[in-house]
Amino acid sequence: CGIVGYIGNRDAQPILINGLKKLEYRGYDSAGIAVYENGVIDLKKTVGRLSNLEEQIEKSPLHGHLGIGHTRWATHGRPSDHNSHPHMDEKHQFAIVHNGIIENFQEIKEELINKGVTFISETDTEVIAHLLADLYDGDLVTTVQKAVAKMEGAYALGIINKYEPDKMVAVRLSSPLIVGLGENENFIASDIPALIEHTRDIYILNDGEMAVITKDKVELMTTKGEVIERTPFRVEWDI
Ligand code: GLU
Repeated sequence: CGIVGYIGNRDAQPILINGLKKLEYRGYDSAGIAVYENGVIDLKKTVGRLSNLEEQIEKSPLHGHLGIGHTRWATHGRPSDHNSHPHMDEKHQFAIVHNGIIENFQEIKEELINKGVTFISETDTEVIAHLLADLYDGDLVTTVQKAVAKMEGAYALGIINKYEPDKMVAVRLSSPLIVGLGENENFIASDIPALIEHTRDIYILNDGEMAVITKDKVELMTTKGEVIERTPFRVEWDI
C-alpha cells in the first residue's frame, strides 16, 4: 500500500492522485484522499482501483493546499468504502493515513469505546484517529507523541488536523516513509517514485522518527521529541 501527502501553494488533489499512481506497484484494494480547506477536512475514498476514486473526484473535486492520500492493502477489515483510508475521528478534526498494523488496537479500541467513542470501520487504523482526538492538547506534535507512545506494531503515518492547517506530521516505525523537500512546498510518500517529478531532495525517516512539515520547513525529531539534524539525501538516479 502507499502513502502520499502534500503541503504548499498548489492544489493538493492532483498531486496526491499522481503520487498514488506511482505507488500502484505496491498493490492495493482501495484508495482515498483527505484535503483541508476553510476549516474543514473533506474526504473521498472508495474500494477498488484508483480509477474509481478518480471518477468520484471528477464529479466533485476537493480543493485545498494540504492533503493526504492512501492506497490500502487490507490487513484488518475487508476491503470496503468504510475501511478505506483516510480515517477520521468522530468530529472530523483529524485525518490519517496508515501503512502497517497496530498490534494492540483491540485494547485501545475497548478503552475508547468505554469512553463513548463510536467506531465506523473494522480497521486497526481507525483507533489512531480517535486516540489523537482523545489526547489532543492543542498541539498536534505533542499529541502525536502521546498517541504513538500507546501504539504497538508497525506504522508509517501521515496526519493532518483542522486546527493547525499549516502543518502535516509524518511518523515511522517499521514501515517505509520519506519526506520530499520542495520550494514553498513539501511532501511525504512511501517511496521515491511518488515524489521524483517534484523533488530529488528527501529525508528518509528511520524507525522511531517523525517529521513536522510546513510548506517552508521540515523539522525532524524522535517520537520522544529529541531534535534530529540530518542532511537531505539527493536522488541522483532516474526512475
Ligand atoms: N492495517 C491497516 C488496514 O488494514 C493498513 C493496511 C495498509 O498498510 O494498507 O487498514
